[in-house]
Amino acid sequence: MVEPRDETDAGAAEPGSVAEALTEYRRKRDFSRTAEPSGPVIDQESASGTRADTTPDTLIGDEALSRAEDPKQAERPVFVIQKHAASSLHYDLRLEMGGVLKSWAVPKGPSLDPADRRLAVLVEDHPLEYATFEGTIPKGEYGAGTVVVWDSGTYEAEKFNVVGSDGKGGEVIVDLHGRRVSGRYALIQTDGDQWLAHRMKEQPSVDPPPASRLAEFAPMLGTSITVEAPDSVATGRTLEEIAADEGG
Ligand code: MN
Repeated sequence: MVEPRDETDAGAAEPGSVAEALTEYRRKRDFSRTAEPSGPVIDQESASGTRADTTPDTLIGDEALSRAEDPKQAERPVFVIQKHAASSLHYDLRLEMGGVLKSWAVPKGPSLDPADRRLAVLVEDHPLEYATFEGTIPKGEYGAGTVVVWDSGTYEAEKFNVVGSDGKGGEVIVDLHGRRVSGRYALIQTDGDQWLAHRMKEQPSVDPPPASRLAEFAPMLGTSITVEAPDSVATGRTLEEIAADEGG
């Protein structure tokens, strides 16, 4: 499906709106060629900057169910970590905030070891619908390569200060409730779009108990969770299977 685009789109975006936040995302992509979501059609509702009705659709299977049944869960924003075999393999961490997904490209992916500090490069905001995108971006298009939903869930924010790439002092502290990655993580802006991500030493004492959670992964700590659990958390497919399923 092709979203109608014309010169008026970028100019019409209301400052601070979802439409404005997604301007760069849309500019980089040709939606007649990539199957990535174009985001909400730009109108009064989608430009309001509030949480859209589309949010529950970004959840996957039993997660959507549990959120519908648990009012506390239903209020929580979503996160996703996508494994992306682009020109170089990396992981994209995306956190729902202000009607879009704030996004960082993490070359080495997440770690469960608090000693690991991972480079995270702030990239353009993505539409909420991107949280369930799994597929292959065709050759020649921006980010060409296969995208896997590697982990997803909800999170609680303790701090959420994301300033522009010119700024300094950005800081995000989140408590992730994922299937593979849970617990408190910090993202600290070091220089422009460069941030560092790490699992925090101090973890919440409840829901889930970090000690038992870590014990679950104890055999993996010598290697890494990205090595031990390489496939899609949504469909169980490997990168190669997803590429093959689309004739890629
Ligand atoms: Mn990417």
